[in-house]
Amino acid sequence: METTGLQFIAGKRRSGSSGKQYTVTNPATGEVIATDTLAAPDDIDEAVAAARAAFGTWSRTTPAERSEAMLRLADQLDARAEEFAQAESRIGGKPIKLTRGFDIPGSVDNVRFFAGAARNLEGRAAAEYSGEHTSAIRREPIGVIGSIAPWNYPLQMAAWKILPAVAAGNTIVLKPAELTPLTSVMFAEAAQAAGIPDGVINIVTGSGREAGQALINHPDIAMVSFTGSTDVGRQIAAQAAAAVKRVHLELGGKAPFVVFDDADLEAAARGAVAGSLINAGQDCTAATRAYVQRPLYKAFVERVAMLMDGVRLGPVDDPATDMGSLISFKQRDRVAAMVDAARAAGATVVRGGRIPDGPLGHAAYYEPTLITDAAQHSAIVQQEIFGPVLVVLPFDTDDEALRLANDTPYGLAASAWTRNVFRAQRASREIQAGCVWVNDHIPIISEMPHGGYKASGFGKDMSAYSFEEYTNVKHVMSEITGASHKGWHDVVFTSHRTGTVHQPSAPAASAH
Ligand code: NAD
Repeated sequence: METTGLQFIAGKRRSGSSGKQYTVTNPATGEVIATDTLAAPDDIDEAVAAARAAFGTWSRTTPAERSEAMLRLADQLDARAEEFAQAESRIGGKPIKLTRGFDIPGSVDNVRFFAGAARNLEGRAAAEYSGEHTSAIRREPIGVIGSIAPWNYPLQMAAWKILPAVAAGNTIVLKPAELTPLTSVMFAEAAQAAGIPDGVINIVTGSGREAGQALINHPDIAMVSFTGSTDVGRQIAAQAAAAVKRVHLELGGKAPFVVFDDADLEAAARGAVAGSLINAGQDCTAATRAYVQRPLYKAFVERVAMLMDGVRLGPVDDPATDMGSLISFKQRDRVAAMVDAARAAGATVVRGGRIPDGPLGHAAYYEPTLITDAAQHSAIVQQEIFGPVLVVLPFDTDDEALRLANDTPYGLAASAWTRNVFRAQRASREIQAGCVWVNDHIPIISEMPHGGYKASGFGKDMSAYSFEEYTNVKHVMSEITGASHKGWHDVVFTSHRTGTVHQPSAPAASAH
């Protein structure tokens, strides 16, 4: 059944007013899921005004009130988990077992985490640092947050943006990717059903160039939180700098996967297949570059190839399907072009490297792909592919492995595979990435931060660290001696020459 009305503004679902029609389709089947009209700058103005109006009340709710509303939201999501899993699978071309087992439970857990975290938001200091003043730290919400999300994990990305912002007392206007807005709108509706007031969470579905730009540049947006590609992030950072606006950027990745010669080969090979093919490789932390120490290299490539042969591509509503389609034909063709260029430059395509035959080839599927013999400086090793492609390269020494792992512009995630505690510790310290897994690759948890180093951005999603992005820190300094003559005045004027003034008695406090 087709859906319409993919804006959620001031608690109401409706169409955008740009007059530009668009469709949301299932990239695994071509089925049309929604036909609607994109948001125009007028819709952004309305959404920001609604968020601004809601801020006064929401920012003054108690942490317990916000927490309870979020717990009710978690219950709403639990009750509708299968509906969300189906919708997320259809808009993203994702296997239903991934959305049932990862996207939806992960998002619900995030809601429950932030319901708890809302009640633990506190300033750090309360002491007399000067001896004459008590200092306290207030953590205050910033205002209306403008968030922009990508298409790869639509519900999780919406949750990561919305939850810390509203838990801290902000209100939000979120622009999901125009390919995948449906579950973000469903999430906002569930929040409304849970009692989160209208205007606290607004969803605007529009293009990056029009709606995204209008949102970023809106004068009432106090902070921009962006997850997406490094190219767009760079542009947004420049705009935020010009407006002196707070910005949080979660950008691209090119995660290294370093296998030392003492590693458990079977664990590493399985980890590489799962870590590179999850969500058809459209994962910013996906394993993309495996560096394998020479003694294990040949056996690792053979085992990964064998495991890739067992990965089942198929209809996304079949629970036996392991890997679905890519998000669009455009994305599939981009991946295919990068693999073809690597092949032309002399790399060996050990598995895949092609669009599957038969009906899947008429949708946006691409085969699990294993590449060897690529040069470190080549595009397939340096640039984000965002598809089901793993490149494997050999190394000889630990120094070389760590140098290669750090040798891209990105720094989002990485993994080190070893049974040697010293190697594990050294890799954890020296790999420049926001997350280093040891003997695993991909798991995330609500309690721990997610965010990048280098061109992967700055700031953190998830965990209590995300409150650093979504709160202002205010120092309140209260004089506690009551003395009118303070020692430091003497550096400004000589007070003994001016005498003192007689203060008339203050009027009695009135009940009015
Ligand atoms: P994208 O940068 O093309 O788009 C992301 C969002 O930005 C979309 O909503 C899009 O409409 C909007 N946008 C595009 N151009 C814009 C502009 N000029 N002004 C304002 N908004 C604009 O990225 P994508 O293709 O949707 O997603 C894939 C990218 O996201 C990959 O690079 C991936 O690594 C990254 N990503 C990063 C993380 C992370 O946590 N670091 C998580 C998921 C995805």
